[in-house]
Amino acid sequence: MSEKNPFVIAQTQLDKCAEILHLDPAVHAILRVPRREIHVSIPVRMDDGSLRVFQGFRVQYNDAKGPTKGGIRFHPDETIDTVRALSAWMTWKCAVADIPLGGAKGGVICDPKSMSVGELERLSRGYIQAVWQFIGPDRDVPAPDVYTNPQIMAWMMDEYSRCAGKNQFGVITGKPLPVGGTLGRGDATARGGMFAIREAAEVCGVDLSRARVAIQGYGNAGFYAAKLCRELFGAKVVAVSDSQGGIYNPDGLVPETVQEFKDKTCSVANFPRCEPITNEEMLGLDIEILIPAALENVITGENASTVKARIIAELANGPTTPDADDILFANGVHVIPDFLCNAGGVTVSYFEMVQNFYMYYWEEALVYERLDKKMTLAYHAVHLVSKQYQINMRQAAYIVAVQRVAEAMKLRGWV
Ligand code: GLU
Repeated sequence: MSEKNPFVIAQTQLDKCAEILHLDPAVHAILRVPRREIHVSIPVRMDDGSLRVFQGFRVQYNDAKGPTKGGIRFHPDETIDTVRALSAWMTWKCAVADIPLGGAKGGVICDPKSMSVGELERLSRGYIQAVWQFIGPDRDVPAPDVYTNPQIMAWMMDEYSRCAGKNQFGVITGKPLPVGGTLGRGDATARGGMFAIREAAEVCGVDLSRARVAIQGYGNAGFYAAKLCRELFGAKVVAVSDSQGGIYNPDGLVPETVQEFKDKTCSVANFPRCEPITNEEMLGLDIEILIPAALENVITGENASTVKARIIAELANGPTTPDADDILFANGVHVIPDFLCNAGGVTVSYFEMVQNFYMYYWEEALVYERLDKKMTLAYHAVHLVSKQYQINMRQAAYIVAVQRVAEAMKLRGWV
């Protein structure tokens, strides 16, 4: 059976990398566990006058290369092990993207879809009141993730600024433009993924202008991926899905129209002139590019052998289990692993931090150009190692990332 605990998966992936690299056991021991975990209880006054106590976490995994960085998720199924895994992946993500940051992640167990705007604001501010002493522009910098958005980042930045007694825009990224956000952050995760797909297509000999694409997940990453696949490559998006269901149309979908439909009905399911499709059916479609852009553990040992796509571009964090990785590699499917493929988000977050420090803001074209450069370099650094060692792209990404973090730890005298 596939292992489903994301932190056990993250540790297993690291162990495999340590074995290939003959990693110093002291470095390995430090990198297997988070440096710091913060568990908080957040009392929130609900609209009906009752008081609810929410549970929240912030895990700061490793800061050898700089302040820790990573998003905050609001999700009913959030667990400490998910946040631990995600904080480890943030560490590898920042290292592989070659940005001077460590890794962290936050989470609150809640169901934002059933909360009012006021309740969400009070929860967001409550979270910051509980953790503010442990974060900061040169310490740990949160950002959006699953079910959190620029408005929530604005409230959080404001709350931190109140606690600190001065404006501190750089404490959080993914903010709206008028309060220290950067151009290009909205679609950065998807756009970064497109640059990686472009390079992978070249390596695999896939003609993107004729490619068929399926996207699982229609949130920030999934929607922009659909839009940009058409805009940048002229590819055909034949299937998309969300937590309520999926849709398939072999003639191709218009992502903006699907989004308008979702805005009204809260799901892509039942979009006109499409066949309904399950997640399992989506994985087995006859397509060139498969983009998991939702949650963890969707491609598993049980379904990996049905994948026909040439390239899997993981915009989600942790969508593929280790046993699925082995099957995909054996079947010649080129996987662009999560912490490489979705590094565009944190890369533009880093650009946002730089602009906040400088108080001088860049044009959009400059953000895109610098993002392209970072993603292209990261992709080829990983691809080179995968060829050198004859290993899959995920193991190669680990090797690149772990070597960089280990080098910083050694130079700092931690080991
Ligand atoms: N939540 C995003 C990720 O998983 C972005 C993190 C950030 O910008 O700090 O990469």
